[in-house]
Amino acid sequence: MVLKNTENEILTSLEALVRVPKQKVTLVTHENPDGDAIGSAIGLGEVLKNFGHEVRIIVPNDYPEFLQWFSSNIEIVVYEKKKNRGKAILEETQLLFCLDFNEAKRTARMEKKVLEFSKPKVLIDHHPYPTDFCDLMISEPEYSSTAELIFDVIQQINLGECINHDAAEALFTGIMTDTGSFSHNISRPNTFQVVAKLMDWHIDTEKIHAAVYHNFSAHRMKLLGHCLGKKMEVFHEFRSAVIWLSQNELDEFEYQPGDTEGFVNYPLSINNIVFSALFTEKKDHVKVSFRSKGDFACNTFSRNHFSGGGHKNAAGGETKLPLEEAVEKFRQLLGDYKHQLLETTI
Ligand code: 5GP
Ligand code: MN
Repeated sequence: MVLKNTENEILTSLEALVRVPKQKVTLVTHENPDGDAIGSAIGLGEVLKNFGHEVRIIVPNDYPEFLQWFSSNIEIVVYEKKKNRGKAILEETQLLFCLDFNEAKRTARMEKKVLEFSKPKVLIDHHPYPTDFCDLMISEPEYSSTAELIFDVIQQINLGECINHDAAEALFTGIMTDTGSFSHNISRPNTFQVVAKLMDWHIDTEKIHAAVYHNFSAHRMKLLGHCLGKKMEVFHEFRSAVIWLSQNELDEFEYQPGDTEGFVNYPLSINNIVFSALFTEKKDHVKVSFRSKGDFACNTFSRNHFSGGGHKNAAGGETKLPLEEAVEKFRQLLGDYKHQLLETTI
């Protein structure tokens, strides 16, 4: 357990905050919640519930079906769909946790509410470069996932006894998904040590893996085929690739939230490719996902050109440019990064 950036004082303050009995506690995640966001919220939520708090989770928008199998009965409010319910919960919340994001704007339509929240606000996150929007900040970018970090924080604030099977399953899911089933984002033995400890709750890792990764619709698989067959452009001279999808194509394949999750990773399986991008047309913007290998920092690329950020090898951003222009901007930029891309060691 190595909380490098977190002073003991912060953990002591958090312990004191959490030990005030029977509070209304709310956990908020980033927009387009992924396995780590949902797993972290349910994992910490279950622990706080078992301690005796009244716990709710609010997510800015809908989350994929492959994350809807948890047996936890904590209420998860989708703010986009139930704004009044979300607002009412926030009104009465006494302690707010911000999980798996490093700046309030990552909560999109909830940003103002998160910034304005005036009672104690705690950040637990593993993205680099956090902004200072919480009273207590636990920001540890060396962690594979927020879920792994939450497991260690729970021990540090002496709540280990409140972990139950549902919490262990959820935290495992967060670690599994953010590491692409233990294939990346792992720089320290701690990740596996936490997973080993989670096994004490007799979680069925095979069942969890199947629930997340073997649960796709036929439409999603066909959309993947379409992407790889017709929409992937490979730039061997820049060791890069791009896939782009219009709203029409998403409609044609009956897109559901989460359907394009993981698509951006496929080009990285091509020999010698170190940088991959996925452009997806949304209602009023284009969402971009980036993945890279080795020391090519796609979060810097995203921050500089697509108003985004994230981790060194997994980042995201967005642009208001029309889809075709956004992809063209990416193609042009590759020339500027040619040297870096060719120098990248993997
Ligand atoms: P994904 O491509 O899976 O949406 O996101 C990859 C990583 O980048 C995640 O860690 C996510 O939190 C981060 N990320 C995605 N979109 C954005 C964005 O618009 N801004 C920032 N700062 N980070 C993002
Ligand atoms: Mn994460």
